[in-house]
Amino acid sequence: MYAKVIVDVPAKQTNHAFDYFVPEPMRDWVAVGSRVGVPFGPRKLQGFVVELDTQVDYDPSKVKPLTEVMDLYPPLTPDLVELAHWISQTYVCHEVTALQAMIPGALKAKYERHVKVADGGAEGVEIEMQADGQHKMLLPEQLEIIEYVRGKGTVEIGALLHKFAAAGGAVKQLIVEGMLHEVQMIKDRMSAKKVLTVIPPEQPDMLWEWAEQLPARAAKQKQVLSYLAQHPVPIKLSELLHEVGVSATTVKSLAEKGWLSIAEVEVFRDPYAERTFRRTEPLPLMPAQQAVFARIEQAVTGNTRQVFLLHGVTGSGKTEVYLQSIQTCLDEGREAIVLVPEISLTPQMVERFKGRFGDQVAVLHSRLSHGERYDEWRKIMLKQVSVVIGARSAIFAPFTRIGLIIIDEEHESSYKQEESPKYHARDVAIARAGQHQSVVVLGSATPSLESMKRTLRGKASTQQLFDMNHIQTAAAARLPDTAVRSSIDSLNVPFELLSMPTRVEGRPLPPVHIVDMREELRTGNRSMFSRPLYKAIEERLHKKEQTVLLLNRRGYSTFVMCRTCGYVAECPHCDISLTYHQSSHAIRCHYCGYAERQLTTCPSCSSEHIRHFGTGTQRVEEELNKLFPGIRVIRMDVDTTREKGAHEKWLTMFRNRQADVLLGTQMVAKGLDFPHVTLVGAIAADTVLNLPDFRAAERTFQLLTQVAGRAGRHDLPGEVYVQTYAPEHYSILTASKHDYHGFMEKEMTLRQLHEYPPFYRLILLTLSHEQLPLLMRTAEALAARLKELAAEVPTIPIEILGPVASPIARIKDRYRFQCMIKYRGDTAISGLVQQALTLLQDVERQHKLTISVDVDPQMLM
Ligand code: ADP
Ligand code: ZN
Ligand code: ZN
Repeated sequence: MYAKVIVDVPAKQTNHAFDYFVPEPMRDWVAVGSRVGVPFGPRKLQGFVVELDTQVDYDPSKVKPLTEVMDLYPPLTPDLVELAHWISQTYVCHEVTALQAMIPGALKAKYERHVKVADGGAEGVEIEMQADGQHKMLLPEQLEIIEYVRGKGTVEIGALLHKFAAAGGAVKQLIVEGMLHEVQMIKDRMSAKKVLTVIPPEQPDMLWEWAEQLPARAAKQKQVLSYLAQHPVPIKLSELLHEVGVSATTVKSLAEKGWLSIAEVEVFRDPYAERTFRRTEPLPLMPAQQAVFARIEQAVTGNTRQVFLLHGVTGSGKTEVYLQSIQTCLDEGREAIVLVPEISLTPQMVERFKGRFGDQVAVLHSRLSHGERYDEWRKIMLKQVSVVIGARSAIFAPFTRIGLIIIDEEHESSYKQEESPKYHARDVAIARAGQHQSVVVLGSATPSLESMKRTLRGKASTQQLFDMNHIQTAAAARLPDTAVRSSIDSLNVPFELLSMPTRVEGRPLPPVHIVDMREELRTGNRSMFSRPLYKAIEERLHKKEQTVLLLNRRGYSTFVMCRTCGYVAECPHCDISLTYHQSSHAIRCHYCGYAERQLTTCPSCSSEHIRHFGTGTQRVEEELNKLFPGIRVIRMDVDTTREKGAHEKWLTMFRNRQADVLLGTQMVAKGLDFPHVTLVGAIAADTVLNLPDFRAAERTFQLLTQVAGRAGRHDLPGEVYVQTYAPEHYSILTASKHDYHGFMEKEMTLRQLHEYPPFYRLILLTLSHEQLPLLMRTAEALAARLKELAAEVPTIPIEILGPVASPIARIKDRYRFQCMIKYRGDTAISGLVQQALTLLQDVERQHKLTISVDVDPQMLM
């Protein structure tokens, strides 16, 4: 047996599979997706098995053996291994980088796997084990193994396999059958967690008798006994106390009588263990929800890949549709993945899913500790759950029968990973759906133009405007090898548009007032609050209703400037201005971490008129306190939510009406559903509009629509104030009228006119090096090579722009140059990029030049 292994060295020379021989004891263990140890020259490396074969087509004596199999269960499924290959081809990255991105960080930490003899299992020599109700004798070598392990207490698996080299299969069998237990001996925070657990007696009926024996004044103890008699299963002590409403002393005194026992039991760390989730039943659907659900239900039971784009206004009840669709999927015996933006993974969202599906749900997000994340991931691996809700990387959940993938807020740019592998979760989802024949639902109140355009394809009325169908697969086929292994077919599926245009129960969308800040300034108001917004807040304070205030962080200045000469403090290592941090009185670079003390005089002209512009939200908070003495403000931004659990804490306080105003950045715009919020204010609605990014208008529209959607979601009607210096801008006008279609049509026309996505696609290549001349020469050579290659595929219009200096021309003392490839087509032309890059291999290696490739970039800064 031979294994093809991708080794863990992200370099061009090692970016293909190497052959290894699988020694006898490992044969039953190794599988596609296993992590293995391999000799590599003089070194020992880790790698992933991507294929198994019975032969190699050269002298087999030259093939070296694997040195170890690292996991009991392969951490990746074969379809994920296939997907990694596809990602490496599509997004031009090393295959091992894609493989590594799919497994939880905790697995990469150092840890050892040990086994011990299972409790109550294998007693004595005449052990029998049950299989299919029949008694079966253990094989002699299995008995030998058990005795060996028993003698040692616990044994590291590698050592065990070494000792019983000829009986690898027997060891595995014992583990699979539960005779040997796996014990994780993981270094650092990874050791298993234990909790106090109450264990009822072997004959729970006795509990009733004992309860009788107790005197009447021991009512609490009686309650505990009768609870356990009715629920005779082990229960966490904390849970029992909560359920019965007694103190720990009560339970302990029962344990002292020997009527029950309290023991430390290993548990999966459950980040939501402290919370109980009220079970919810499916709601009767509104007509629009019903129509949408019926389509999804039909597709889920139909077992073919299908992609839906669900456009539902804020408050239209998308979540309930997701929940019922997932139920259908589970009824089909299949699994569901739900992706939400990191920022929406609030307790509120998790509660909705846990409330409906209970323990069936695993939650994955970056705020979990390594250990918690690992445990959630293991629940997926061991099939203890069938629903995963998580941020971007949850798309790699190791499920094997995926029936449904939901991506909520599909327009969010956080679905694109900004470091290698620079994948977009939406496209990966469609690829996975192709492997599993599953349904994808992309939900949003403001679908991205990319997704919207794919719903329009092929329709006669829009054919002329969105003339896109001329790219032939045949032409793409002539490109250098972008072929993918088997089941991932083209992503080029049209989307079906579903819509829910009204809020549930006919609640109105809130009226939006645009406030022209230029007018405010002309009439003498220099505050950051316009008069109408000021009055509206005052009114809410009076009525004891709540307000959400949004300050867009991106594009908001936090820099240091001299008012005399205009000097702006910049990082000496990066071409970017330094950011002022009020709390530490320092100015910092966000790219390299460089910091210096805040300035008192201008380094350029020595003037004392140097201004530090604090973070936007801090300034707003100060001003609120000045304008409305005694106002209770919760500020949520990167500074106040850094600590674990902070996010949840603030939101719970706001929900409990311990504050009048929730002030924050983007984080307050997403997914929150608070009944007493009747006012929403966007303080500087247009800060993003001025960024040099062709998506600026779209981002502004999306953000305003989202934040406006927070108002008046329940019985109390709401209203929205949008303050802006660009009141006539179409993105602000259309957002104020809740007019998604008006915005989309205007924006589509502009994008087509200016040849931007979704009509054209982009690939951004960024090169960086310490020496400018070498960098420029290389960038020129790359552009020339790209042009040559592009000329070889005349059927696809490809334009090479640049090289030019990047918008941030230097980071950490490395200069940056970029080339942009702009082309029309449905097939990513990654193969062409890969081919051009081979030209640079030598410079890359010799001079430590870095090249990063971003296919369909979301950030152009
Ligand atoms: P969206 O995600 O589309 O913004 P939500 O899913 O948050 O909307 O739903 C808005 C509110 O409407 C929630 O409070 C939800 O519980 C409620 N809701 C959803 N569907 C129904 C229904 N069929 N009947 C009654 N209330 C519903
Ligand atoms: Zn100056
Ligand atoms: Zn810097």
